[in-house]
Amino acid sequence: MEELKKKIREVPDFPSPGILFYDLTTLLKDSESLRTVIDLMTHEYRDREIDQVVAIESRGFIFGPALAYNLQTGFVPVRKKGRLPAQTISASYDLEYGQDVLEMHTDAIQKGGRVLIVDDLIATGGTAAATTQLVHQLGGEIIGLAFIVELEFLKGREKLDGFEISSILKY
Ligand code: AMP
Repeated sequence: MEELKKKIREVPDFPSPGILFYDLTTLLKDSESLRTVIDLMTHEYRDREIDQVVAIESRGFIFGPALAYNLQTGFVPVRKKGRLPAQTISASYDLEYGQDVLEMHTDAIQKGGRVLIVDDLIATGGTAAATTQLVHQLGGEIIGLAFIVELEFLKGREKLDGFEISSILKY
């Protein structure tokens, strides 16, 4: 795990002053590291019955489809407001300043569909919590939430009480 952490570039003051940004592009460009994180996520969920991987724009889209392919599930995108072409449902979440909205197609998930939510990183948990609301609006069942990186000091898990959460690298 320490080897994997070394592959992540930590960029101070991006995208705004005081934020330490965990840049996964330096991990992604290394074939062995990329394979390792996808394999670890796959291993965690391979014995679970899952219908779809739901991934969050935009960096969740890097890992979600690879995981869906390995787990032999479908893939569902959650996108920022206004980007999905057909009828959508929406959920808002708090940003540092103001709010943002996430959307999912109304026909993306069947009632009772078993879903795994994926993103690259969990910080405050607001993005992931909004995504759980979208899945529940459509009657989906959340099997778990999977992240590469977890910023434990931001206590994102507290916003996701009762859900099964996994992360590969903890800070
Ligand atoms: P949050 O809603 O606070 O859990 O933020 C999670 C989302 O914001 C994820 O989609 C991450 O890609 C992104 N994010 C938040 N903080 C960071 C950070 N320090 N480094 C990299 N990505 C971040």
